[in-house]
Amino acid sequence: MGFLFDSFEGWKDYCAQNKMSLSEVVLEYERAQKGRSTLDTRNGLSAAWKVMKEAVHTGLEEEMKSRSGMIDNGAKKVYRYPKAVLSREFQNLIARALAAKEVNSCMGRIVAAPTAGASGIMPGVLYTLQEIHNIEEDKIIDAMLIAAGIALIMEQKASIAGAVGGCQAETGTAAAMGSGAIVFCLDGNIEQIFNAVAITVQCMLGLVCDPVAGLVEVPCVVRNASAAAIANSSAQIALADVSSVIPVDEVIEAMGEIGASMETRYKETALGGLAATKTGQRIAKRVLISDIEILPDEGAPSS
Ligand code: SF4
Repeated sequence: MGFLFDSFEGWKDYCAQNKMSLSEVVLEYERAQKGRSTLDTRNGLSAAWKVMKEAVHTGLEEEMKSRSGMIDNGAKKVYRYPKAVLSREFQNLIARALAAKEVNSCMGRIVAAPTAGASGIMPGVLYTLQEIHNIEEDKIIDAMLIAAGIALIMEQKASIAGAVGGCQAETGTAAAMGSGAIVFCLDGNIEQIFNAVAITVQCMLGLVCDPVAGLVEVPCVVRNASAAAIANSSAQIALADVSSVIPVDEVIEAMGEIGASMETRYKETALGGLAATKTGQRIAKRVLISDIEILPDEGAPSS
């Protein structure tokens, strides 16, 4: 079954040949690869969806200040701000993506979808979509199955890790998962779902991984919000049958090629980009000193 997730084209062909939906194929893959029954897989996703929603609430209701001080209740500030740039829904989307990711930066419980660094995107996207369109729980679970299939192929053809392919691989994959999920929930067809993935990734290509002080906080948290916005804009475009022109498999190959040629300093090493700015380096030094200060004194009793 592994071959199914080598390409989007292969996934689509398998659906056509076997008269199966995208989500049914992912369930079959789970059964073949991990011996999990349909019920187990769906229950597992249902539990993950619950954790995602809880992370949104936690980020919007509890104190979210990271030890470095770089994260300081940003989601709540956005959520409560009286003026909406576009609409209240858009403001909610941004605040929720920030909220779930802030929970991760403050060491709370999240779902790595597909990674912890990108853990705000799917919760922000799905929570807001469900609220606006009244999507049933079962359909959200099907959307999560499709999102998982999207991530499997992206991992296979390129990467989903910032340390391997830059931030395009991490937040880019999460945005592609979210975009495909939106189009599915709004009754888009397979072409439109894959087109949404292609358009999303086209918008995320080249994004480097440059976390300040090596902490998954800045720019990670705000990138979760922008990736959630791109997931929505791409879904809107794809639903209207506007073509990505470059087929989805080729777009993902381009992402892999860009990731492979990215310099090491842009792959989570905190040696380039924002991490290498004067302010970034000052913060890194301060974080290092405070880490040393909380280490127990050498020779001091350990109890
Ligand atoms: S900048 Fe790096 S660590 Fe931060 S979200 Fe992107 S890939 Fe992850």
